Amino acid sequence: MTAQLPPPVWDNHACPPMALADLPAHLGVLDRYAHAGVDVVSLNIGYGEMAWDEHLAMAQAITAWLSARPDRFCLARSVKQIEAARRAGRLAVVFDVEGAAPLEGDLSRVGILHDLGVRWMLLAYNRRNWAAGGVHDEAGLTPAGRDLISAMEDAGIVVCLSHTAPEAAMAALAVARKPMILSHSNLRTACDHPRNISNELALACAASGGVIGVNGLRLFLGQGAALETLVVQHLLQLVALVGPLHVGLGLDFVFDLAGLESEKSAMKGSFPPGSGYEAPTECTPPEAVPAIRAGLLSAGLAPGEVAAIMGGNWHRIAQRCWVDA
Ligand SMILES: [Zn+2]
Repeated sequence: MTAQLPPPVWDNHACPPMALADLPAHLGVLDRYAHAGVDVVSLNIGYGEMAWDEHLAMAQAITAWLSARPDRFCLARSVKQIEAARRAGRLAVVFDVEGAAPLEGDLSRVGILHDLGVRWMLLAYNRRNWAAGGVHDEAGLTPAGRDLISAMEDAGIVVCLSHTAPEAAMAALAVARKPMILSHSNLRTACDHPRNISNELALACAASGGVIGVNGLRLFLGQGAALETLVVQHLLQLVALVGPLHVGLGLDFVFDLAGLESEKSAMKGSFPPGSGYEAPTECTPPEAVPAIRAGLLSAGLAPGEVAAIMGGNWHRIAQRCWVDA
């Protein structure tokens, strides 16, 4: 009989460059996750104002890159494949999409994204689209957005409410049939930024059975301490609010900071002035993962609670929500 594995270490959001030509030079960053003891990482294949075809091209390019390195990586489409990858010493990669805008209301695209390996998607990225409002405007969930949620839940793509307007996020949770997540969002009470979330939204997400991932960007963590120290503080504050079974990591590490700057200038609508996006981006690297775990243990959390936060909770979401778990 094969021995059972401990819960995986799982970072639920990371950002490769969106320029295809720049991908090969930066995807080697994935080795840094493996060396830091991460078992699963969710890679973004598109966000904001990017077009549908650009999302498809990103997924295909990353998949080809991973497939050419089968000894080190695996694009995991199921919980079983994650387990197989771990037993073989490979990093498991899954995909995510930041915002439903590129679907342009066509729900058949949900299945296409699932086939590509997408396992969570935001309803909106910062701005209102056909489905829902974003954090930088005030808009709710549209009837088409409700249909999208239902299609995602059926397909096995987890509904993520990060970057989504609070009103739309609460409306989504009111119709949830499966747990919903906030893959990379911090508490507003710990750092006051429009991208961060209210206690009320965090509690409603947890009540759906969901998980809130702490974001490792300085802009959403605040000042006054090292990034990894602040990540631990944000994790502990969330644990105090929603309990250790509803907290995880969504560190949002950017592989190519220069590339991010050109993406931001090409998508000015997604990054309104006055919200701090102009400042140079500072992000928590995968190498911080062991220190984050140590910080949680030294704060007095039980080893089982720490294992849940480091990835066991995302694993539970996958088991519960992915249709091919
Ligand atoms: Zn994001």
